[in-house]
Amino acid sequence: MERQKIETICIQEGYKPGNGEPRILPIYQSTTYKYDSADHLGKLFDLEVPGHMYTRISNPTVEYVEQKIAALEGGVGAMCTSSGQAANLVAVMNIAGCGDNIISLSSIYGGTINLFAVTMKRFGIDVRFVNPDMTDEEIEPFFDENTKAVFGETIANPALKVLDIERYANLAHKHNVPLLVDNTFATPVLCRPFEFGADIVIHSTTKYMDGHASVVGGAVVDSGNFDWEAAGGFPGLTEPDESYHGVVYTRDFGKAAYISKARCQLMRDLGTTPQPIAAFILNQGLETLALRMERHCENAMQVAEYLEKHEKISWVNYPKLPGSDQYELAEKYLPKGACGVISFGVKGGREAAVKFMDSLKLAQIVVHVADARTSVLHPASTTHRQLTDEQLKDAGIGADLVRLSVGIEHISDILADLEQALNQL
Ligand SMILES: *Cc1c(COP(=O)(O)O)cnc(C)c1O
Repeated sequence: MERQKIETICIQEGYKPGNGEPRILPIYQSTTYKYDSADHLGKLFDLEVPGHMYTRISNPTVEYVEQKIAALEGGVGAMCTSSGQAANLVAVMNIAGCGDNIISLSSIYGGTINLFAVTMKRFGIDVRFVNPDMTDEEIEPFFDENTKAVFGETIANPALKVLDIERYANLAHKHNVPLLVDNTFATPVLCRPFEFGADIVIHSTTKYMDGHASVVGGAVVDSGNFDWEAAGGFPGLTEPDESYHGVVYTRDFGKAAYISKARCQLMRDLGTTPQPIAAFILNQGLETLALRMERHCENAMQVAEYLEKHEKISWVNYPKLPGSDQYELAEKYLPKGACGVISFGVKGGREAAVKFMDSLKLAQIVVHVADARTSVLHPASTTHRQLTDEQLKDAGIGADLVRLSVGIEHISDILADLEQALNQL
């Protein structure tokens, strides 16, 4: 059978009830599972049989949502986490340890920059930042024998740079390491990074996937395509794990080696577990994801065109604007749209930007993007305020930059709100 369309997967994948069972995904609010014999539980602990042991590691409600996310991305398996931060942490730590390094695009989410540049450094993992404008030749010297991955975001938050996934996948694979892509802003509705050579996809499900600003969460998805044995340099996956009596993830889990190790080892040890109720709420968001993304993209395009023509706006950054330097990449990787997030500069710099934001009525100031409600934020003084001026510049964030997350309200109401706020300037 042909693979189902993304709209159908959003609704139908994951939980599939049997005869007489609840139609809607049940919330298995249980930390614990019951076994008929001690022997069976012993086998579970040795990973000899599949099943749930303890909700820190897995839970049926969460598992159904993981199946849906894996299907949406076209991967062999997914693991939900307590947050997007936890997802990025686990995704990197699953293959890199003290003494290793990864190469990351510099235009990424501020929280991830902190995680990479400060906390991971303390773990002994060196994250080497490269600028999206650098050529392959300029990036080459950043690789060495301890490099374990390349990392980037499909649509960078908030710089809105579009990742040339094929290019970085080729570069990573040339050096026998996987490409990790944070696909939070695009969602699998707009881009499926595995189709362009990415190996691992990460999500902050807090954003569009939940879509209602209700629950913090994350996910790691494994394409199953990276050959860890052939690549070499990943002993954690290809050599015995003594904490499980010698399980070898590549031997015992095949294509799902990476995601199995992430769960059995890191989720067990770090406890970055999502609650069953959070997975249930996320699942409800996912059911309407395709529909919502369509409207977010449609509205954002109209807002971008409106702002571009406005005399009080100095510049507009939206990858789908034909004048954007990201336009060609967006056409290739984001044919259906570039999500609802737009950034722009208000003439008059920081002061005007702040006054404009304070004048908005429908669009509200929140430390969040990518949900159904139109919202607005000034990154330089909030989400990215820990960054140095140099890091801000590398991340593509100026003091006049306003980040607008266009919601799914009626476009005429959104435009009217922008108009009245701009009239205050
Ligand atoms: C928000 C965000 C994160 C962090 O996710 P949380 O769920 O807030 O922990 C990571 N990456 C990107 C691109 C994000 O937008």
